[in-house]
Amino acid sequence: MVTQRNGNPNAEERTVDVVIIGAGASGLMAARTLKKAGKSVCVLEARNRVGGRTWNGKVLDDQGTEHFIEIGGQWISPDQTRLTELVQELGLETFDRYREGKSVYVSPDGTRHEFEGDTFPTSEETASEMNRLIAELNQLAEEVDANAPWEHPRAKELDSQSFRDWLESLSDDSEAIDNISLYISSGMLTKPSRTFSVLQAALMASSAGSFDNLVDENFLLDKRVAGGMQSVSITMAEELGDDVILSSPVRTLEWATPDPSTADAPNNVEADVRNGVDNNGGPGTVTAYSDRAVVHAKNAILAVPPNLYNRISYVPPLPREQHVAHQHISMGLVIKVHAVYETPFWREEGLSGTAFGGDRLVAEIYDNTNYGKNFAGGEEGKEDAFGTLVGFVSDVYAEEMWALPAEERKERILDAMSIYLGDKVKKPIAFFLSDMAAEEWTRGAYATSYDLGGLSRWGHLQNKPTGPIYYSSSDIAGAGYQHVDGAVRIGEAVAKQILGQG
Ligand SMILES: Cc1cc2nc3c(=O)[nH]c(=O)nc-3n(C[C@H](O)[C@H](O)[C@H](O)COP(=O)(O)OP(=O)(O)OC[C@H]3O[C@@H](n4cnc5c(N)ncnc54)[C@H](O)[C@@H]3O)c2cc1C
Repeated sequence: MVTQRNGNPNAEERTVDVVIIGAGASGLMAARTLKKAGKSVCVLEARNRVGGRTWNGKVLDDQGTEHFIEIGGQWISPDQTRLTELVQELGLETFDRYREGKSVYVSPDGTRHEFEGDTFPTSEETASEMNRLIAELNQLAEEVDANAPWEHPRAKELDSQSFRDWLESLSDDSEAIDNISLYISSGMLTKPSRTFSVLQAALMASSAGSFDNLVDENFLLDKRVAGGMQSVSITMAEELGDDVILSSPVRTLEWATPDPSTADAPNNVEADVRNGVDNNGGPGTVTAYSDRAVVHAKNAILAVPPNLYNRISYVPPLPREQHVAHQHISMGLVIKVHAVYETPFWREEGLSGTAFGGDRLVAEIYDNTNYGKNFAGGEEGKEDAFGTLVGFVSDVYAEEMWALPAEERKERILDAMSIYLGDKVKKPIAFFLSDMAAEEWTRGAYATSYDLGGLSRWGHLQNKPTGPIYYSSSDIAGAGYQHVDGAVRIGEAVAKQILGQG
C-alpha cells in the first residue's frame, strides 16, 4: 500500500493522532497546540523549509555583501494580539517600523506632495469624498462579521457588486476612488477592484477591526520580528523536532469509505462520497501519502492555501460541494520590491520613506531598514547602517512587469519609486523582487480570496470539516484574515476543535 500511492519504496511509515499538511505558521501552530495537549502529530511540508509565505531571505550587493530581506509576510499590527503573544512565547523580539519625518503623496497628475499625519494632501473636495467613502466602509465593516460575512442580511447583494462599481456608485471623484481602492485592492487583496465584491472588501476591513485601521499605515505596519517573521515558524518547528518532515509534498489523502448507494452501475460509476459523510469533524481513518512518508492518523489538518487544495488527490474524491466551492478561491498577485542603499538617505531629507500614489505602478513604499541580528548579519539591539526600501507592484501592474526583460523591469520599478523619494532611489546597491507567484507551493501573493459572488455562495463551507479533514489557513480566518496573525489563530482554533471532540 505504501508504495502504491506515493511511488517511493523507501517512504517511512508513521501512525499519529493528527497529520498536518503544510508547515506554514498555521500548520505549525496547530501542531504545537495539539502536541502540548498530549496528542501525537506529524507535519508534512512540501518545501525544503518551513514558514510558507513567511521567508527570511538574502540579497547580495555588488561587493558580495549579504543583506537580509523578508521575501514574504513581515508586519504585525496592534490588533494582531495572538501573533504578538506567540512571538513573546517563542522568545523572539519585535521592533518598530521607522516612521519619523514626512510622508510623500503623488497625485494622479504626477504632482509630488510631502505631508504629515495619515490624511493624503488632496484637494478639499477629494478629501471630503474620501472621508465619505471611509465612513461608508467603516459602517459596512462594523455590520459584517469577519467570521461569517455570508450571514450579513444583504450578503448576496453586497457580493454581487464589484468593489470598484460600488465606489463609483457612491462618488465620481476618481482620485478619491483610486486612493480608497489602494487600501483594499492593491494594498490587500492584490486583485483589480472590479474582480472582487463589496462583501469581500468589507470582510477585509472587518477582519482588521475597521476600515480606519487599513487606512492608518502606522497602525497596520507597526512592528516587525527581529530576525524576520519566518523565525516564528522556524522556532515552532524546532520545538516540534522530528515531527516535521520537509521536502515531502502530500500527493494523496485517503479519508473515507465510499457510500455504496452512490454507485451507478448502468453508467459505470463507482461508489464515492459525493453527498458528503456523516460525523464531519469526528475522528476517522486518514492516510497521507507524501514523497518521503506515509502517515496514518485519526484526523488531518489541511494547512495549505485554499488554491492548493486541488493539488492533492483525495480517495475517495471530496464531496460535490467542496469540489465546486474550492474552484471559486484564487490567489492575488503582487511583487514585493526590495532595494538596499548604503544609507537610508531619505531620512537626512526629513522623509520617513513612506509614500503613496493611488493607481501608480508602485502604489506604496516604506522604510524597511533591518534591525537586530539576522541570518545575513546584523547586530543585537542595533539598526543596520544600510537603508532598505520596500515597495509593492500589484495585480495588473505585476503582470506587466513580469512580462518585461529583467533589466527593463528593474528600471521601470525604480523609476516609479524615484517619483516619491528622488533620483538616488534609482541606484540601489542591491535589488530583489519577491516572486511568490512562481513558487509551486504558493502561486501568488499575498493570499487567496473569492471571485465575485463566491463568498456568499460558498464561504459558509470553508471552515467546516469534511469527515476527519479540517481546514486551516490565514485565508479562511476571521480576525487576522490573510495575515500571519490569522494563520496562527485558525491553527490554534482548529487544534482546539479536534481536542474538544476527544
Ligand atoms: C509577499 C508577501 C507579503 C506579505 N506581507 C504580510 C505582512 O506584512 N503581514 C502579515 O501578517 N501577512 C503578510 N502576508 C501574508 C502572510 O504571509 C500569510 O497570510 C501567512 O503567512 C499564511 O500562513 P499559512 O500557514 O496560512 O499558509 P502558508 O504560509 O502558505 O503555508 C502553507 C504551507 O503548506 C505547504 N504546502 C502546500 N501544499 C502542500 C502539500 N500538498 N503538501 C505539503 N505541504 C504543502 C506550503 O509549502 C507552505 O509551507 C504576506 C504574504 C506575502 C506572500
